[in-house]
Amino acid sequence: MTWRNEFIPKNKYTRPGTLLKGVLKIVIHWTGNPGAPAKNHVKYFGVTLPAQSKLLEQQGKKYTAASAHIFGDKDESVCIIPLNEVAYHANDVQKHNDDGSVYRGVKEIAPNANLYTLSYEMCVEKDGTIHQDTINRAISDIAAICMTYKLTEKDIVRHFDVTKKDCPSPFVKDLVKFEDFKKQVGLILNPTKVETKPAAVKTKPPFYPGTVLKVGSKGNNVRLVQEKVGVTTDMKFGPKTEAAVKAFQKKNKLTVDGKIGPKTWAKMFQ
Ligand SMILES: [Zn+2]
Repeated sequence: MTWRNEFIPKNKYTRPGTLLKGVLKIVIHWTGNPGAPAKNHVKYFGVTLPAQSKLLEQQGKKYTAASAHIFGDKDESVCIIPLNEVAYHANDVQKHNDDGSVYRGVKEIAPNANLYTLSYEMCVEKDGTIHQDTINRAISDIAAICMTYKLTEKDIVRHFDVTKKDCPSPFVKDLVKFEDFKKQVGLILNPTKVETKPAAVKTKPPFYPGTVLKVGSKGNNVRLVQEKVGVTTDMKFGPKTEAAVKAFQKKNKLTVDGKIGPKTWAKMFQ
């Protein structure tokens, strides 16, 4: 695996300990938390948020249950929730359908995507962008997840696709970035096969017959010559063959005598 595990303690606000019902998709997010590297989120989801939520709950106020499995930044990625457990990352309500039901964009994992998905959070730089190294790390981490769970790049969805949340924002603003992300994962899963042509089978040239072939010569060696110079292969060295041999010799800057000696033979069958 390309990430390190640093699991947060089980607690009802961030790591319920419930087992996933399956892994059908991978949901990508961004933390929306500028300047915070992956390791900061271990503490946040392991300690800070559970404490805050518990306090709010005790006060009878609305509290947050949130988390994700893996956080990646430009230097490392950390898995904070075991990949067979539920994380709270994509069951938010952003929009309702016309009939009043909650919007869910990816049918296979509706109504609660948290039960059927793994989540990957890309960390955000101080300037609000996602560093290219962070994106590259996410690509290789997610390719590894795809291999483990027999998923393809088509199984990568944005949080936006599931609930319409603006997450990961740069991939919502620019669909091409998301398409390219999936394509890169696909290239790791199925490296384009470099077409290898079988090496051309080189047949050995026929040996020089040992005697000069000229008008009047007959036989199989004459036929080989006739094939090469493009005349009727009647195995008889006649005037037409002689003329064609002369043309061949002229073209190949050989002595033009119309006879097949060692040099003409070598040139013809090299
Ligand atoms: Zn998200």
